[in-house]
Amino acid sequence: MGGLGDPAICIDSDIAAILATQGVEFLLSGEGKVPLSSCDGKTICLFFSANWCRPCRTFCPQLVQLYNTLNTKGKNLEIIFVSFDHDENGFKEHFKPMPWLAVPFATNLHKRLSGMYHVDRIPSLISLSLDGLSVGEDLIGLIEDYGDEAFPFTKQRKEELKAADDAKCQGGKLEDLLAHKGRNYVISMDAKKLQIAVSELVDRTIGLYFGGHWCPPSRSFTKQLIEAYNDLKTSTSTEQFFEIVFVSTDRDCKEFDLNLSSMPWLAIPYEDRTRQDLCRIFNVKGIPALVIVGPDGKTITTNGKSMIALYGAKAYPFTESRIASLEGALRKEGEALPPQVKDIKHEHILKLDMAKAYVCDSCRKQGKFCAFSCDVCDYDLHPSCVEPTS
Ligand SMILES: [Zn+2]
Ligand SMILES: [Zn+2]
Repeated sequence: MGGLGDPAICIDSDIAAILATQGVEFLLSGEGKVPLSSCDGKTICLFFSANWCRPCRTFCPQLVQLYNTLNTKGKNLEIIFVSFDHDENGFKEHFKPMPWLAVPFATNLHKRLSGMYHVDRIPSLISLSLDGLSVGEDLIGLIEDYGDEAFPFTKQRKEELKAADDAKCQGGKLEDLLAHKGRNYVISMDAKKLQIAVSELVDRTIGLYFGGHWCPPSRSFTKQLIEAYNDLKTSTSTEQFFEIVFVSTDRDCKEFDLNLSSMPWLAIPYEDRTRQDLCRIFNVKGIPALVIVGPDGKTITTNGKSMIALYGAKAYPFTESRIASLEGALRKEGEALPPQVKDIKHEHILKLDMAKAYVCDSCRKQGKFCAFSCDVCDYDLHPSCVEPTS
């Protein structure tokens, strides 16, 4: 009734107070004990992690890098490690490389804190607002996706980053996609790794090829793509208007270099984040994948892989109308074919099938619409691969 609020229900709720109510008397740094008040005035994140957990150990170095980068930039970030280790030794081992603070190891404290902050898995990183209470969702994914760009880890920041991704995906400047923090070139895929300015690629149709040497389907698609690429690069009508940029998902630099030796096009350098950024922006969930960006910077298709597999260089410029006209021509071709044939390579009669996606059992390439297929066994031929018996 007084309208000023009841002091009895005002909770002093910054993180130091919350920890104190849980029986925590001090925090630890690499040097030793520090007072709870060392958190005052900082952006605080709680890091729930354990040394026995492999994903935790993998994520840790990434978080150390982020912490150091942000604090070098004066962002005043503090992280408090809450240990899920089974014993004090595990805790010590895990805390050793961490440049931030930790709550002292104690049984059950991690359970109470993780219950309080709704943590149901580790690693988990929870950002606290100034009142120490209102928490958002787990930040691990956000940090893996965006690194230190994710700071200050708010919902608003996440929405901004997502909107920037969407804008890049829908199209705009090629530089925004391919360049990164002062690097404005891509490299040639040979031992010299020549630098080619991104500005030289503007106004071309660009194929972003996502692949990795460790993945067999990717290796075999590379061969098909090289064939199409060479066709396009030796034709005067397309040579100047098409380019491929490799976005490596190789597991390390060595594999990347191995890939270099087999590809005739350009690549994003292995070292910076652009490779991960492009996978995220175009929502690439599996490799091989081929995203086609048009001369105006807009995405033409994320399905370039099946276009190349079916039509090779003829798919260029990968537009809907181009694909429709190729499909139309194939249908027409099919209408002129006999209803069945006998091929010298196969013992049974092969029947014309007009609605089929298949891999040809002779040339091993994909086909669509017209196939000569066996009813008895799983055998398909391109019409052009049939050798009729006399
Ligand atoms: Zn064939
Ligand atoms: Zn058969």
